[in-house]
Amino acid sequence: MNKIPQIKIAIASGKGGTGKTFVSTNLFYTLYKKGNKVTLIDCDAEEPNAKLFFEYNFVKDINVFQKNPVIDVSKCTFCGKCHEYCNYNSIFILPNMNVIKVIEDLCHGCGACKVACKFDAITEKDFSLGKVNHYKINDNAHIVEACLNVGISSPVPVIKRALKEGSKTDNIILLDSPPGTSCPFIQTSLGADYILLVTEPTPFGLSDLKQAIATLKILHKPFGVVINRSGIGNSDVKDYLEKENIQILLDIPFDRDIASIYSKGNILAKERLKWFDKFSYLFDLINNSYGNSSN
Ligand code: SF4
Ligand code: SF4
Repeated sequence: MNKIPQIKIAIASGKGGTGKTFVSTNLFYTLYKKGNKVTLIDCDAEEPNAKLFFEYNFVKDINVFQKNPVIDVSKCTFCGKCHEYCNYNSIFILPNMNVIKVIEDLCHGCGACKVACKFDAITEKDFSLGKVNHYKINDNAHIVEACLNVGISSPVPVIKRALKEGSKTDNIILLDSPPGTSCPFIQTSLGADYILLVTEPTPFGLSDLKQAIATLKILHKPFGVVINRSGIGNSDVKDYLEKENIQILLDIPFDRDIASIYSKGNILAKERLKWFDKFSYLFDLINNSYGNSSN
């Protein structure tokens, strides 16, 4: 088998519940079964669940911290400078009542308040954001998982750490992206060579797909589309893609057999050979398309 050069593919969708993890896990399975070295990075940090479809061994976990401010009230003059500098409304202050507090869950650990304070009233402490878990399916296949603590506002630092951990090898890398088109989606897409957008043929699917495509055009990232649950809803998604000249790389029908396999935590490409071939072909299409776009 010819060695495939490293490529990072983000599997993303403009909204949750479109089948992003379904596509990621099937592509992952197909690639490692074909003898490729592949790492799946689960960037859906609020609800990572890709590993549940596989038998795995734990390799290691990494704690992710940020530096949060600690205010020494005995040194504080309640001047309010730190509150002014904070872009995230993370410092609550009532100067007339000599009250000041850091709202830890909103804090992004940027350090601006410490720079702002001229009275040496701010020091910093480690604040836990979550973990990165590393699992191994076999010597060729690894899963790295970003796992955010409950109540933390931004998953971006934990996702960044997971991307770093999962990108150490020259494996093919699949990124199961967080849903939506906000900062976590952008962070994951920036780290990818190619974005595979998973959508469904419904009005909500179309609206979110348009947003995701607009974002990727701004980022100048090559992308392709997978339609999941094809047959429900209407033809607006296909009409839009045709009009925009965007290729549908894979069309997965709304099918009782497929839904039943997935709902039992099984991998479609493992259970149905036809789908192994289809996911294999999907990767070939991406690899060719990326190869052409990067020439
Ligand atoms: S570290 Fe940054 S985000 Fe946190 S309280 Fe200070 S200024 Fe605000
Ligand atoms: S900048 Fe320093 S002195 Fe001023 S309110 Fe903040 S902590 Fe207190």
